[in-house]
Amino acid sequence: MHKNIISLLLLSIAAVATAGGFYNPWEEIVRPSTGEHQIFGGYNAGCLQGASAPRDTGNGFQYIELSRNKFWGHVSTHRFIERMGSVLRPQGMSLLVADVSMPRGGPFTWDHASHQVGLDMDIEFLQDPRSLQRDLTIDERERLPKYYLADQDANAVIEKNWSEKYVTMLRTFAQDDAVHVMFVHPSIKKKICENPANRQSWLAKVQPWWGHDEHVHVRLKCPADSPNCKSKPDFTEIGCDTQEFLWWFSEEWRQLYEARKKWQRDNPNPEPEPLPSLPTQCQSVLKDVGTR
Ligand SMILES: [Zn+2]
Repeated sequence: MHKNIISLLLLSIAAVATAGGFYNPWEEIVRPSTGEHQIFGGYNAGCLQGASAPRDTGNGFQYIELSRNKFWGHVSTHRFIERMGSVLRPQGMSLLVADVSMPRGGPFTWDHASHQVGLDMDIEFLQDPRSLQRDLTIDERERLPKYYLADQDANAVIEKNWSEKYVTMLRTFAQDDAVHVMFVHPSIKKKICENPANRQSWLAKVQPWWGHDEHVHVRLKCPADSPNCKSKPDFTEIGCDTQEFLWWFSEEWRQLYEARKKWQRDNPNPEPEPLPSLPTQCQSVLKDVGTR
């Protein structure tokens, strides 16, 4: 597993240079396409036809940074947020939901490698006490601070920021049948693994990944209305005691992390990577006249 991670990372830091200007038409579009609500392709190479906008606030949830116009999703995503909000609100939590997808899904130039089909979403670890009392204004939701659960350099959880409510949050997500997998900073999974009571089947859906120190990335399964949605790649369970998981705390990991940081320092303005090739249906989604 870690060999795959290494080759993936080396690929991503190799920064493929593109001749001439770089143009990403998916980022130019401000409205969703017309047509039946459905997904073409997969999380890392796909698009979303007839995307749905969420209710931006509700019981136990608020979508943030609406000006980014990246709240578009498959309806199952917005329903998932509503469902989780109503379960977690009585337990003193209110979810702040950041990026889902662009109006027609598709690839980002920088922000995310996935989030292309309206089934991936980032949920902040920040719990703003005001959001339990009232809806934050749209402006307030543009300017929220980040709340870090992990220190990336130390590769460890920030104990003073940690709370058991994050176990409740992640467990509640993982136990929902719609969820395929979630990504958090490795130290967060390690912290959860420390309590034997947490070592249950739901924890398999909580996977370690780079970053993810101030939000959890939640990925849903392909919904039934989208036969052209590809739920691959499947994930392999990375259990608390496996070599694959321990690798994230190894010397080899440390070297890779430092090399990656150095590369980023030396290359402050890297070229974007080429856009992935998408299913043919995405061309029609892209060219569609759009909703008014
Ligand atoms: Zn994400």
